[in-house]
Amino acid sequence: MMMKLDSPYRILLLGGTTEATSLAQSLAGENGVSATLSLAGRTVNPAASPLPVRIGGFGGVDALTEYLTRENIDLIVDATHPFAARISNNAIAASAAAQIPLLAIERPPWTPANGDNWNEYDSIDTAIAALPDTPQNVFSGLGRQAIAALSVAPQHRYVIRVVDASEPPASLPQATIVAARGPFRTEDDLELFRKHRISHVLAKNSGGSAAYSKIEAAGVLGIKVHMVRRPAIAPRSTVASVEYALAWIKTHHQRRSERGV
Ligand code: NAP
Repeated sequence: MMMKLDSPYRILLLGGTTEATSLAQSLAGENGVSATLSLAGRTVNPAASPLPVRIGGFGGVDALTEYLTRENIDLIVDATHPFAARISNNAIAASAAAQIPLLAIERPPWTPANGDNWNEYDSIDTAIAALPDTPQNVFSGLGRQAIAALSVAPQHRYVIRVVDASEPPASLPQATIVAARGPFRTEDDLELFRKHRISHVLAKNSGGSAAYSKIEAAGVLGIKVHMVRRPAIAPRSTVASVEYALAWIKTHHQRRSERGV
């Protein structure tokens, strides 16, 4: 086997989340580590990163496997969003094919607190279909990719929060787009919901603190939440936080150095 003792420990960090941004900061200062942050390229102005950044899809499992081999990657860290199931499942398959370990940072999902008024759904479509037939004031925290799905219920007045500003589609004549990047504050969401007299909140069970404000505000105001459950992801090694991920990475890096490979 080729000696890799002096070569850096090469990490592919799949990002697009606050956890990835924070882990990138820590990895940039780690001795003997060479990490690259990979983004899908969905947002116009991604958060600045101290790591080299590559942008855009790999082209599926085989192409990702080729990338891992070509770039001599030692470890994939999947810090993508819990609803980014395709890249997460691709990364699991590619890590197996390239025979390198994968670690995922998986935030615990939110659970209803006392007084919360939640119904849970298996998909964005079923969460929208369960809105009342009569016109409501609906806040959508489902993201940009779900805007088209709202068109099946065009009778509602939507307030749609997305990262990048855009015009509402013609199919949703009563929609307002609010462009904002988290983390959000509960007091701001309380004001937003009061201003638009929101009766229903559509949300994905993302977990974490950056987007929890809408759930907390809905709880305070007694607003009904239609919560979309997380998609299925194949079994993998997970940790619940950036701190645990960093500890896991340091241990594996150390072991590799001790083995001299
Ligand atoms: P997805 O459905 O799982 O991925 C679709 C395709 O986009 C993947 O097959 C892959 O293309 C490419 N891709 C996704 N993440 C990538 C990454 N980090 N680096 C390189 N290519 C990537 O993902 P998504 O739900 O569209 O989310 C896209 C990105 O936005 C992710 O990085 C995610 O962390 C972030 N994000 C998503 C959400 C959400 O609610 N879904 C919320 C916040 C942030 P190829 O197959 O060609 O490799």
